[in-house]
Amino acid sequence: MVAGLQYTLHRIRPVSHFLRVRCLPRPRRDTLEIRLVGFGHSAIRLDSDSPLGEPLMTQVRVCFADPQGMPTPPKTVEKIELSDSAWRQRLTPEQFRITRREGTERPFCGGLLHEKGDGIYACVCCGLPLFASSAKFESGTGWPSFFQPFASENLREEPDHSFGMFRIETRCSRCDAHLGHVFDDGPAPTGRRYCMNSEALRFVPRHRLAELAETDLAPVEHASSATSPPMLAEAVLAGGCFWCVEAVFEELEGVIEAVSGYAGGSAETANYQDVCTGTTGHAEAVKIVYDPRRISYEQLLEVHFSTHDPTTLNRQGNDRGPQYRSAIFYSDDAERAEAEAFLERLKNSGAFSAPIVTTLERLEAFYPAEREHQNYVACNPMQPYVRAVAAPKVQKVRSKFANLIRAH
Ligand SMILES: [Zn+2]
Repeated sequence: MVAGLQYTLHRIRPVSHFLRVRCLPRPRRDTLEIRLVGFGHSAIRLDSDSPLGEPLMTQVRVCFADPQGMPTPPKTVEKIELSDSAWRQRLTPEQFRITRREGTERPFCGGLLHEKGDGIYACVCCGLPLFASSAKFESGTGWPSFFQPFASENLREEPDHSFGMFRIETRCSRCDAHLGHVFDDGPAPTGRRYCMNSEALRFVPRHRLAELAETDLAPVEHASSATSPPMLAEAVLAGGCFWCVEAVFEELEGVIEAVSGYAGGSAETANYQDVCTGTTGHAEAVKIVYDPRRISYEQLLEVHFSTHDPTTLNRQGNDRGPQYRSAIFYSDDAERAEAEAFLERLKNSGAFSAPIVTTLERLEAFYPAEREHQNYVACNPMQPYVRAVAAPKVQKVRSKFANLIRAH
């Protein structure tokens, strides 16, 4: 470490035959020595003669969007560098996985694939404009595709050798978010295909372009300060098959993400095969990441209790077993108190003729389910169970809670 200072390794990525190491905070010198503990190396020296000794850039030239949605002249701004925990506060787990861990979303499932609106696609991490809707085209690949960036300054291209392939990765110039890859098989006039993850982008419609001009003010830095409260909250609810519960909550405005998974049992058996035996203690559950300024915990409970039957013990319809129990997994005493008060009101309301058997359980851990169970209803609309059980629930929430439904 440099001059006795402790640096946090921000990222280590294999790039061809060497490692690229980035540090937070940035070292003041462009020469540093690092020790890889546990790798048997004594030390690796990085200096300006090595391919790793590229200048440490803390500033970058990028373009913002003017009120007409056109790029402003390039402007020099500070790069945005946050710690992982600060990014986690700003992003949903899926956004974090994709942008900060070079992840890829499943094809045909991204929320922006079919977006046809007029506007700008901005970096989900820092709000930098990345693509105009006029450059979007249907590539048939299952990922949102564009033939040119909003401004070449705003995207950085890097060689990517992962998975034994050679590809060109694209990143946000200002915050280094991983966005996707670019290929040379796109349409005229550029011949390029920017293949993006929906989760790495935020679509801003034309009438709200003013939001993008403000990103110049770097709201990210403000939000990352240690004193600012987390912007998002999480709730974990169970009410039968998680495909259906997830599909219901995906409908709601203010819900950032609904993740199917398992709660109530231990890590070793948190998998679909074991949970299906009904002996692991888990319930099929859904973690709802939401913005409390746009939807409240109580509203989530209201929707939950309108879309499953809380009076049938260890059972929802034809799905039987404790893994299908109705449950609220609370994460702290305040949430528990709110859930208890809600259940009390529900009992007194007479909405159900039979007793409510929903369990209140402390959330010890939530284990996301296997990939094939995520977005199951959206990805498998013709599956018979989806059509028979999930679709009516989604219809019900759309009609009964029209005021809470997000604009499609
Ligand atoms: Zn960015």
